[in-house]
Amino acid sequence: KDFRNNVKPNWCPGCGDFSVQAAIQRAAANIGLQPEQLAVVSGIGCSGRISGYINSYGFHGIHGRSLPIAQGVKMANRDLTVIASGGDGDGFAIGMGHTIHAIRRNIDITYIVMDNQIYGLTKGQTSPRSEAGFITKSTPEGSIESSLSIMEMALSAGATFVAQSFSTDLKDLTALIEAGIQHKGFSLINVFSPCVTYNKVNTYDWFKENLTKLADVEGYDPHNKELAMQTLMKHNSLVTGLIYQNNTQKSYQELIKGYSEVPLSKTDLAIEEEEFNQLIAEFM
Ligand code: SF4
Repeated sequence: KDFRNNVKPNWCPGCGDFSVQAAIQRAAANIGLQPEQLAVVSGIGCSGRISGYINSYGFHGIHGRSLPIAQGVKMANRDLTVIASGGDGDGFAIGMGHTIHAIRRNIDITYIVMDNQIYGLTKGQTSPRSEAGFITKSTPEGSIESSLSIMEMALSAGATFVAQSFSTDLKDLTALIEAGIQHKGFSLINVFSPCVTYNKVNTYDWFKENLTKLADVEGYDPHNKELAMQTLMKHNSLVTGLIYQNNTQKSYQELIKGYSEVPLSKTDLAIEEEEFNQLIAEFM
């Protein structure tokens, strides 16, 4: 099924987000989803526009809040495949509280972050993923803060699926998104998605020179958390591939006692006026 729509993205030519959009569309089609079975929820930022560029249910939310909305969508209609998406500023600054708790909650959604290490929509300020020394309009003498090690943080917070990719590795990225969607729990996929307009340091060439594919690391086992942490630290987190997966932990939905067999969206919630008035009276 075709997940393309007729909305033309207004990203800058060469922006990494184009490939992420294509990878989500391909992954959904490869899995055999129909557009009405997929919901893409996004936050604010250049990458937040992605929910409007995919032929599926889409919700362009508010800054840093893609995860609460996406979790609500999934809880109301667990039949939907739910993807939350946004940038590193959206998810790892204003939205960080939600990110940490969605990770430890292990709710069955996929979170795809387009990590460009800068705020692009507001024309180039340091983000939580900018390296120390990074010069931008907000840090003309270089950032004095260090970059957030998001993959290590996710592992520490109890993530059950952690992956990282590079937007030009379309085949690998598509496969990781497929695996993330099929994972029964919360999947975090951080994608290095260069901002060609404002980030002149972390360019396509820079990533090609600095990234290591985990598939090329001898003996790497994505089910070994200790090895995952050691490997991330050894490579300064600049690795791509499936970093860690734990298939044994139950998802949030599986742990809720009495979780309805029928999704809330398909439940008849109509009540009589008298019953409604009684309910309201209880809360007055
Ligand atoms: Fe992409 Fe950067 Fe342009 Fe935003 S400003 S669309 S992140 S290249």
